[in-house]
Amino acid sequence: MSKAISQVPIATNEPVRNYKPSSQEVKSLISTYRKMWKEKLEIPMIIDGKKITTKEKIRLQSPQDHHHDLGFYYAGNTEHIDRAISTALAAKERWNALGWEQRVAIFLKAAELIAGPYRDKLNAATMIAQSKNVHQAEIDSACEFTDFLRFNAEFMTEIYAEQPISDNGIWNRIEYRPLEGFCFAVTPFNFTAISGNLPACMAMMGNVVVWKPSDKQIYSAHVIMEIFSEAGLPDGVINMIFTDGRETAKRVLSHPDFAGLHFTGSTKVFQEMWKQIGNNIHKYKSYPRIVGETGGKDFVMAHSSANAEAVATGLVRGAFEYQGQKCSAASRAYIPESLWKEIKKIMKSQIDSIKVGSPEDPVNFVNAVIDKNSFEKCIGYIERAKKSEEAEVIIGGKYDDKKGWFIYPTVIKCTDPTYESMVEEIFGPILSVYVYKDKDWKETLKLVDKSTSYSLTGSIFARDRYAIEEAFKALENASGNFYINDKPTGAVVGQQPFGGGRTSGTNDKAGSKMNLLRWVSARSIKETFVSPKDYKYPYLG
Ligand code: NAD
Repeated sequence: MSKAISQVPIATNEPVRNYKPSSQEVKSLISTYRKMWKEKLEIPMIIDGKKITTKEKIRLQSPQDHHHDLGFYYAGNTEHIDRAISTALAAKERWNALGWEQRVAIFLKAAELIAGPYRDKLNAATMIAQSKNVHQAEIDSACEFTDFLRFNAEFMTEIYAEQPISDNGIWNRIEYRPLEGFCFAVTPFNFTAISGNLPACMAMMGNVVVWKPSDKQIYSAHVIMEIFSEAGLPDGVINMIFTDGRETAKRVLSHPDFAGLHFTGSTKVFQEMWKQIGNNIHKYKSYPRIVGETGGKDFVMAHSSANAEAVATGLVRGAFEYQGQKCSAASRAYIPESLWKEIKKIMKSQIDSIKVGSPEDPVNFVNAVIDKNSFEKCIGYIERAKKSEEAEVIIGGKYDDKKGWFIYPTVIKCTDPTYESMVEEIFGPILSVYVYKDKDWKETLKLVDKSTSYSLTGSIFARDRYAIEEAFKALENASGNFYINDKPTGAVVGQQPFGGGRTSGTNDKAGSKMNLLRWVSARSIKETFVSPKDYKYPYLG
């Protein structure tokens, strides 16, 4: 146990490499990609630090080339779910007893491994399996993940340092215990950083974890476990299983020692899991913590005083980076009639210059969508819009699945602000635009606020400060992350804590103290130095 009140290194954001053409850093990353592309993977689950293989081999796919043979992963069954739970519970006592400096050092070391020797490997795995270009992989798997680990170490010590006041003759303390039982992390395909952070931040706070990553993110999840192991994470603290989501949830959420769910993914899946937790509430030893960051239908609202170039650029980057597969992606825009012609022209010329293709070639700004389901979902919206009387495909609308799942950046202009593509989460490179009459600014603010059940991110573009203030108030609850004159994506750990309300999540702000507080259960301690020896208070005479 510690004999010092140590301070962790001051967290700073990992600088983003710019991968300029012909630079050494881009050459190194692309050559790592090419080497890894040729490997035939056999990815095991990791339970109790051991590689677990099964008879069920599932083919791994790359979105940019669905014919390519990447190898396979070993899928598990109910036996593996049960084993992951019992292993986590068995690891709990030792992990809990370990001094916090030792615990946190493991994750700080993992951060340095990601920023250093594993950077290219984790980025390349993200590019191959999740179809991110060099920049998107860099800001996610290298930088955001490193930031999560470094900042969480600092936030953890800030939480530990938060102590109550003491009175004369007594000493009051609070200790921040991990939750009793085990925690469950369920992660999405679209961010390597999120998938690593969800189990890691719970473990950093002293918890033991069963982690089920998305079956479309298994390659980078595998590299993450390799990094945690190299960083010295003891066996059994995080157990990674590749099992069916529904079956896993059913078994984990009915276990009496289930203590907390850390979920990121779609609203529907989270709501199903919450219902199961409600139905099982009488079975648990303690009330579980439930944290979920879910879907979005993120808006960009332009005022007539906005700069047209800034709006167009915010829309192009916000809607089409990572093929619109960010929960924060701009997917509905409200543009005043007076600016529409100019914004449309700039958007069109920017989109015309976008190259679509494999991330292996860094000139491609837009890469493939994650899988066939997503591809078909996007086509559905495009084709219905082409036939609709309330919508018109004004830019893009092309797609191509001969080699990979490529959807070209598409803009749909809607005359009905409640048209399906204006209100439903598509999760693809499709932006819907509603052009409003300048005089209807106030009514349009109401539309923005009320058209969807989500509340994740949103932007207001304006130069008029009165308009900014008005939007700021009218849209108070329309997003958990609000941007002024910027795109609604790209939150940075430590700078813009991320999360949304309404049906977008519990808004516990990943990468902040607010989130970490959910994974501890405080114990208040009062010590009286000289204990009273008589029950009579002075007022009794
Ligand atoms: P998803 O909901 O399909 O899957 C998320 C995880 O849940 C995966 O591990 C999946 O295997 C598992 N799962 C699927 N069905 C399940 C079931 N019935 N029971 C239990 N687990 C189940 O989401 P996705 O496609 O991986 O990710 C995209 C979604 O995630 C979008 O809706 C996006 O908005 C959201 N997202 C939100 C945030 C945020 O911070 N708010 C961040 C990233 C992604």
